[in-house]
Amino acid sequence: MSEFNPDRLLNVKALKQLSVLFNKGAVPHALLFSGYEGLGKRDTAVLFAMACNCNKSQGSGNIADIIDCTCRSCNKIRSGNHPDIHWVEPSGTFIKIDQIRELCEAVAMKPYEAGMRVVIISSAQNMNIEASNSLLKLLEEPPQKTILILTAIQASDLLPTIFSRCQTVHFTPVSQDIIKSAALEKFNISPDEAEIIAVLSQGSLSKINACKNIKGIKELICLRNWLLQMCCELTGNGARVSMETALAFAEKLSKDKKKLPDSLDIITSWLRDIMVVKYQPDRIINKDLFQNIRLISQNLSTNSLLSKLDVLQAAQQGLRTNANIRLVMEIMVLGLIKE
Ligand SMILES: [Zn+2]
Repeated sequence: MSEFNPDRLLNVKALKQLSVLFNKGAVPHALLFSGYEGLGKRDTAVLFAMACNCNKSQGSGNIADIIDCTCRSCNKIRSGNHPDIHWVEPSGTFIKIDQIRELCEAVAMKPYEAGMRVVIISSAQNMNIEASNSLLKLLEEPPQKTILILTAIQASDLLPTIFSRCQTVHFTPVSQDIIKSAALEKFNISPDEAEIIAVLSQGSLSKINACKNIKGIKELICLRNWLLQMCCELTGNGARVSMETALAFAEKLSKDKKKLPDSLDIITSWLRDIMVVKYQPDRIINKDLFQNIRLISQNLSTNSLLSKLDVLQAAQQGLRTNANIRLVMEIMVLGLIKE
Protein backbone atom coordinates (compact mmCIF):
# COMPACT_ATOMS: atom_id res chain seq x y z
CA MET A 1 0.00 0.00 0.00
CA SER A 2 1.43 3.35 -0.92
CA GLU A 3 0.34 6.69 0.35
CA PHE A 4 0.23 9.36 -2.27
CA ASN A 5 2.72 12.13 -1.76
CA PRO A 6 1.49 15.31 -3.46
CA ASP A 7 4.89 16.86 -2.82
CA ARG A 8 6.43 14.76 -5.55
CA LEU A 9 6.45 16.29 -8.94
CA LEU A 10 4.76 14.13 -11.48
CA ASN A 11 6.17 13.16 -14.80
CA VAL A 12 4.68 15.63 -17.27
CA LYS A 13 5.32 13.59 -20.41
CA ALA A 14 3.86 10.42 -18.97
CA LEU A 15 0.82 12.29 -17.68
CA LYS A 16 0.21 13.77 -21.10
CA GLN A 17 0.25 10.33 -22.69
CA LEU A 18 -2.11 9.01 -20.03
CA SER A 19 -4.42 12.02 -20.37
CA VAL A 20 -4.76 11.37 -24.09
CA LEU A 21 -5.69 7.72 -23.51
CA PHE A 22 -8.10 8.69 -20.76
CA ASN A 23 -9.88 11.42 -22.74
CA LYS A 24 -10.26 9.18 -25.77
CA GLY A 25 -11.81 6.53 -23.55
CA ALA A 26 -9.06 4.27 -24.84
CA VAL A 27 -7.45 3.12 -21.59
CA PRO A 28 -6.05 -0.37 -22.22
CA HIS A 29 -6.56 -3.10 -19.64
CA ALA A 30 -2.83 -3.28 -18.95
CA LEU A 31 -0.22 -0.53 -18.78
CA LEU A 32 3.50 -0.76 -18.16
CA PHE A 33 5.17 2.25 -16.54
CA SER A 34 8.85 1.92 -17.40
CA GLY A 35 11.72 4.05 -16.11
CA TYR A 36 14.31 4.41 -13.37
CA GLU A 37 13.48 4.74 -9.70
CA GLY A 38 12.50 8.19 -8.54
CA LEU A 39 10.74 9.39 -11.67
CA GLY A 40 7.24 9.32 -10.23
CA LYS A 41 5.89 5.99 -11.51
CA ARG A 42 4.10 5.10 -8.28
CA ASP A 43 2.58 8.51 -7.70
CA THR A 44 1.44 8.71 -11.29
CA ALA A 45 -0.23 5.30 -10.92
CA VAL A 46 -2.14 6.60 -7.89
CA LEU A 47 -3.18 9.74 -9.74
CA PHE A 48 -4.34 7.68 -12.69
CA ALA A 49 -6.41 5.48 -10.38
CA MET A 50 -7.96 8.66 -8.97
CA ALA A 51 -8.76 9.95 -12.46
CA CYS A 52 -10.43 6.67 -13.39
CA ASN A 53 -12.74 6.85 -10.37
CA CYS A 54 -13.22 10.53 -9.59
CA ASN A 55 -16.77 11.56 -8.64
CA LYS A 56 -16.34 15.05 -10.05
CA SER A 57 -15.88 16.03 -13.63
CA GLN A 58 -12.50 17.75 -13.98
CA GLY A 59 -13.23 19.33 -17.33
CA SER A 60 -9.66 20.30 -18.22
CA GLY A 61 -8.84 16.89 -19.65
CA ASN A 62 -5.50 16.91 -17.86
CA ILE A 63 -5.09 14.12 -15.34
CA ALA A 64 -2.62 16.22 -13.34
CA ASP A 65 -5.48 18.57 -12.34
CA ILE A 66 -7.04 15.86 -10.22
CA ILE A 67 -4.22 16.12 -7.71
CA ASP A 68 -6.17 18.38 -5.34
CA CYS A 69 -9.61 16.80 -5.83
CA THR A 70 -11.37 16.24 -2.51
CA CYS A 71 -14.17 13.97 -3.66
CA ARG A 72 -14.78 10.85 -1.58
CA SER A 73 -13.21 8.49 -4.08
CA CYS A 74 -10.07 10.59 -4.63
CA ASN A 75 -9.59 11.04 -0.88
CA LYS A 76 -9.81 7.31 -0.29
CA ILE A 77 -7.39 6.47 -3.07
CA ARG A 78 -4.98 9.22 -2.06
CA SER A 79 -4.82 7.98 1.52
CA GLY A 80 -4.41 4.35 0.47
CA ASN A 81 -7.80 3.27 1.87
CA HIS A 82 -9.76 2.34 -1.23
CA PRO A 83 -10.85 -1.33 -1.28
CA ASP A 84 -10.60 -1.58 -5.07
CA ILE A 85 -7.06 -0.29 -5.48
CA HIS A 86 -4.72 -3.24 -5.08
CA TRP A 87 -0.98 -3.05 -4.60
CA VAL A 88 1.35 -5.96 -5.26
CA GLU A 89 4.96 -5.39 -4.26
CA PRO A 90 7.98 -7.66 -3.86
CA SER A 91 7.88 -9.52 -0.59
CA GLY A 92 11.58 -9.78 0.11
CA THR A 93 13.42 -10.03 -3.20
CA PHE A 94 10.60 -11.41 -5.32
CA ILE A 95 6.94 -11.07 -6.10
CA LYS A 96 5.83 -14.62 -5.41
CA ILE A 97 3.17 -16.81 -6.97
CA ASP A 98 1.03 -16.73 -3.82
CA GLN A 99 0.74 -12.97 -4.12
CA ILE A 100 -0.46 -13.23 -7.73
CA ARG A 101 -2.86 -16.06 -6.83
CA GLU A 102 -4.34 -13.92 -4.09
CA LEU A 103 -4.70 -11.09 -6.57
CA CYS A 104 -6.45 -13.36 -9.10
CA GLU A 105 -8.97 -14.36 -6.43
CA ALA A 106 -9.60 -10.74 -5.49
CA VAL A 107 -10.18 -9.54 -9.05
CA ALA A 108 -12.47 -12.49 -9.87
CA MET A 109 -15.08 -10.73 -7.75
CA LYS A 110 -16.91 -7.52 -8.64
CA PRO A 111 -15.34 -4.28 -7.43
CA TYR A 112 -16.79 -3.12 -4.09
CA GLU A 113 -17.43 0.45 -5.06
CA ALA A 114 -15.07 1.55 -7.82
CA GLY A 115 -16.18 2.16 -11.37
CA MET A 116 -12.73 0.98 -12.38
CA ARG A 117 -10.61 -1.25 -10.18
CA VAL A 118 -6.89 -0.56 -10.43
CA VAL A 119 -4.16 -3.10 -9.68
CA ILE A 120 -0.64 -1.73 -9.34
CA ILE A 121 2.15 -4.31 -9.54
CA SER A 122 5.23 -2.40 -8.60
CA SER A 123 8.79 -3.53 -9.48
CA ALA A 124 7.23 -6.15 -11.75
CA GLN A 125 10.72 -7.16 -12.90
CA ASN A 126 10.99 -8.91 -9.54
CA MET A 127 8.26 -11.44 -10.32
CA ASN A 128 9.66 -14.92 -10.28
CA ILE A 129 8.86 -17.19 -13.21
CA GLU A 130 5.87 -18.88 -11.55
CA ALA A 131 4.38 -15.53 -10.61
CA SER A 132 4.96 -14.24 -14.16
CA ASN A 133 3.15 -17.21 -15.66
CA SER A 134 0.27 -16.78 -13.29
CA LEU A 135 0.00 -13.08 -14.15
CA LEU A 136 0.10 -13.94 -17.82
CA LYS A 137 -3.20 -15.81 -17.46
CA LEU A 138 -4.74 -12.72 -15.94
CA LEU A 139 -3.48 -10.61 -18.83
CA GLU A 140 -4.84 -13.08 -21.36
CA GLU A 141 -8.29 -13.01 -19.83
CA PRO A 142 -8.51 -9.59 -18.25
CA PRO A 143 -11.23 -9.21 -15.61
CA GLN A 144 -13.93 -6.65 -16.29
CA LYS A 145 -13.64 -3.10 -15.03
CA THR A 146 -10.03 -3.63 -14.05
CA ILE A 147 -6.84 -1.90 -15.13
CA LEU A 148 -3.47 -3.45 -14.39
CA ILE A 149 -0.52 -1.12 -14.04
CA LEU A 150 2.90 -2.75 -13.94
CA THR A 151 5.97 -0.71 -13.07
CA ALA A 152 9.47 -1.78 -14.08
CA ILE A 153 12.83 -0.23 -14.81
CA GLN A 154 12.70 -1.41 -18.41
CA ALA A 155 10.27 -3.45 -20.48
CA SER A 156 12.97 -5.97 -21.38
CA ASP A 157 13.22 -6.97 -17.71
CA LEU A 158 9.82 -8.67 -18.09
CA LEU A 159 8.88 -11.76 -20.05
CA PRO A 160 8.13 -10.76 -23.67
CA THR A 161 4.74 -12.44 -23.35
CA ILE A 162 3.94 -10.05 -20.52
CA PHE A 163 5.17 -6.74 -21.84
CA SER A 164 3.70 -7.40 -25.29
CA ARG A 165 0.28 -7.38 -23.63
CA CYS A 166 0.82 -4.01 -21.96
CA GLN A 167 0.84 -0.54 -23.41
CA THR A 168 4.09 1.12 -22.33
CA VAL A 169 4.31 4.57 -20.81
CA HIS A 170 7.94 5.74 -20.59
CA PHE A 171 9.08 7.78 -17.61
CA THR A 172 12.00 9.85 -18.81
CA PRO A 173 14.29 11.81 -16.48
CA VAL A 174 13.13 15.34 -15.72
CA SER A 175 15.25 18.13 -17.25
CA GLN A 176 17.84 19.84 -15.07
CA ASP A 177 16.14 23.22 -15.61
CA ILE A 178 12.85 21.97 -14.17
CA ILE A 179 14.63 20.47 -11.20
CA LYS A 180 16.60 23.65 -10.65
CA SER A 181 13.41 25.74 -10.49
CA ALA A 182 11.74 23.18 -8.21
CA ALA A 183 14.72 23.30 -5.83
CA LEU A 184 14.77 27.11 -5.87
CA GLU A 185 11.08 27.19 -5.10
CA LYS A 186 11.25 24.64 -2.34
CA PHE A 187 14.41 25.72 -0.51
CA ASN A 188 15.98 29.00 0.36
CA ILE A 189 19.19 28.41 -1.59
CA SER A 190 21.26 30.32 -4.12
CA PRO A 191 20.94 29.68 -7.88
CA ASP A 192 24.43 28.14 -7.82
CA GLU A 193 23.39 25.68 -5.13
CA ALA A 194 20.18 24.90 -7.03
CA GLU A 195 22.29 24.13 -10.08
CA ILE A 196 24.38 21.63 -8.10
CA ILE A 197 21.23 20.04 -6.72
CA ALA A 198 19.89 19.70 -10.28
CA VAL A 199 23.10 17.89 -11.21
CA LEU A 200 22.92 15.61 -8.18
CA SER A 201 19.29 14.70 -8.78
CA GLN A 202 20.07 12.97 -12.11
CA GLY A 203 16.62 13.70 -13.41
CA SER A 204 14.83 12.41 -10.36
CA LEU A 205 12.67 14.80 -8.39
CA SER A 206 12.13 12.32 -5.61
CA LYS A 207 15.80 12.73 -4.72
CA ILE A 208 15.17 16.41 -4.05
CA ASN A 209 12.03 15.69 -2.13
CA ALA A 210 13.92 13.15 -0.05
CA CYS A 211 15.82 16.15 1.32
CA LYS A 212 13.25 17.35 3.80
CA ASN A 213 14.83 20.71 4.49
CA ILE A 214 17.62 23.08 3.74
CA LYS A 215 19.93 21.10 6.06
CA GLY A 216 19.43 18.00 3.92
CA ILE A 217 20.25 19.98 0.79
CA LYS A 218 23.40 21.50 2.32
CA GLU A 219 24.49 18.06 3.49
CA LEU A 220 24.12 16.70 -0.02
CA ILE A 221 26.19 19.55 -1.43
CA CYS A 222 28.88 18.97 1.23
CA LEU A 223 28.92 15.26 0.43
CA ARG A 224 29.43 16.00 -3.24
CA ASN A 225 32.23 18.49 -2.56
CA TRP A 226 34.06 16.07 -0.31
CA LEU A 227 33.68 13.12 -2.69
CA LEU A 228 34.87 14.98 -5.74
CA GLN A 229 37.74 16.59 -3.86
CA MET A 230 38.93 13.10 -2.85
CA CYS A 231 38.40 11.69 -6.34
CA CYS A 232 40.39 14.59 -7.81
CA GLU A 233 43.24 13.70 -5.51
CA LEU A 234 43.01 10.01 -6.41
CA THR A 235 42.75 10.31 -10.17
CA GLY A 236 44.03 13.81 -10.75
CA ASN A 237 47.33 15.09 -11.92
CA GLY A 238 48.44 16.50 -8.57
CA ALA A 239 50.67 14.79 -6.05
CA ARG A 240 49.91 11.11 -5.67
CA VAL A 241 47.89 10.27 -2.60
CA SER A 242 49.31 7.83 -0.12
CA MET A 243 47.87 4.35 0.21
CA GLU A 244 46.90 5.32 3.73
CA THR A 245 44.77 8.25 2.55
CA ALA A 246 43.14 6.09 -0.12
CA LEU A 247 42.20 3.35 2.32
CA ALA A 248 40.96 5.87 4.87
CA PHE A 249 38.67 7.26 2.16
CA ALA A 250 37.35 3.76 1.47
CA GLU A 251 36.73 3.22 5.16
CA LYS A 252 34.85 6.48 5.55
CA LEU A 253 32.70 5.69 2.51
CA SER A 254 31.84 2.23 3.78
CA LYS A 255 30.75 3.55 7.18
CA ASP A 256 27.82 5.49 5.75
CA LYS A 257 25.97 2.76 3.90
CA LYS A 258 22.80 4.81 3.45
CA LYS A 259 24.59 7.45 1.43
CA LEU A 260 26.59 5.01 -0.69
CA PRO A 261 24.22 4.72 -3.67
CA ASP A 262 24.12 8.52 -3.95
CA SER A 263 27.89 8.76 -3.46
CA LEU A 264 28.59 6.27 -6.24
CA ASP A 265 26.14 8.09 -8.55
CA ILE A 266 27.99 11.35 -7.89
CA ILE A 267 31.39 9.82 -8.67
CA THR A 268 30.02 8.12 -11.80
CA SER A 269 28.54 11.34 -13.19
CA TRP A 270 31.88 13.08 -12.60
CA LEU A 271 33.87 10.33 -14.38
CA ARG A 272 31.37 10.39 -17.21
CA ASP A 273 31.97 14.13 -17.55
CA ILE A 274 35.74 13.64 -17.70
CA MET A 275 35.10 11.35 -20.66
CA VAL A 276 32.45 13.54 -22.32
CA VAL A 277 34.49 16.74 -22.08
CA LYS A 278 37.01 15.19 -24.51
CA TYR A 279 34.42 15.00 -27.27
CA GLN A 280 31.39 17.15 -26.45
CA PRO A 281 32.36 19.65 -23.75
CA ASP A 282 28.98 21.39 -23.84
CA ARG A 283 27.27 18.17 -22.76
CA ILE A 284 28.88 17.71 -19.38
CA ILE A 285 26.54 17.48 -16.38
CA ASN A 286 28.72 19.00 -13.64
CA LYS A 287 28.97 22.34 -15.40
CA ASP A 288 30.20 24.22 -12.33
CA LEU A 289 33.36 22.07 -12.35
CA PHE A 290 34.14 22.54 -16.02
CA GLN A 291 37.73 23.80 -15.67
CA ASN A 292 38.72 21.11 -13.22
CA ILE A 293 37.08 18.37 -15.28
CA ARG A 294 38.86 19.49 -18.42
CA LEU A 295 42.21 19.59 -16.68
CA ILE A 296 41.85 16.06 -15.32
CA SER A 297 40.60 14.84 -18.68
CA GLN A 298 43.78 16.00 -20.39
CA ASN A 299 45.80 13.70 -18.16
CA LEU A 300 43.66 10.60 -18.41
CA SER A 301 43.44 8.37 -21.47
CA THR A 302 40.10 7.10 -22.73
CA ASN A 303 41.11 3.55 -21.79
CA SER A 304 42.03 4.52 -18.29
CA LEU A 305 38.69 6.31 -17.91
CA LEU A 306 36.77 3.34 -19.23
CA SER A 307 38.43 1.09 -16.71
CA LYS A 308 37.55 3.51 -13.90
CA LEU A 309 33.92 3.56 -15.03
CA ASP A 310 34.01 -0.25 -14.93
CA VAL A 311 35.36 -0.06 -11.40
CA LEU A 312 32.40 2.13 -10.39
CA GLN A 313 29.93 -0.18 -12.08
CA ALA A 314 31.38 -3.18 -10.25
CA ALA A 315 31.11 -1.30 -6.95
CA GLN A 316 27.45 -0.46 -7.64
CA GLN A 317 26.80 -4.10 -8.38
CA GLY A 318 28.61 -5.07 -5.18
CA LEU A 319 26.25 -2.83 -3.20
CA ARG A 320 23.19 -4.42 -4.75
CA THR A 321 24.38 -7.93 -4.02
CA ASN A 322 25.22 -7.23 -0.38
CA ALA A 323 28.91 -7.97 -0.78
CA ASN A 324 31.37 -6.96 1.95
CA ILE A 325 31.01 -3.17 1.66
CA ARG A 326 34.41 -2.29 3.08
CA LEU A 327 36.13 -4.60 0.62
CA VAL A 328 34.04 -3.30 -2.28
CA MET A 329 34.99 0.29 -1.40
CA GLU A 330 38.67 -0.54 -1.07
CA ILE A 331 38.74 -2.19 -4.49
CA MET A 332 36.90 0.79 -5.97
CA VAL A 333 39.17 3.41 -4.43
CA LEU A 334 42.32 1.59 -5.49
CA GLY A 335 40.88 1.30 -9.01
CA LEU A 336 40.39 5.06 -9.12
CA ILE A 337 44.03 5.84 -8.40
CA LYS A 338 45.83 7.05 -11.46
CA GLU A 339 48.23 4.48 -12.84
ZN1 LIG B 1 -12.14 13.23 -7.34
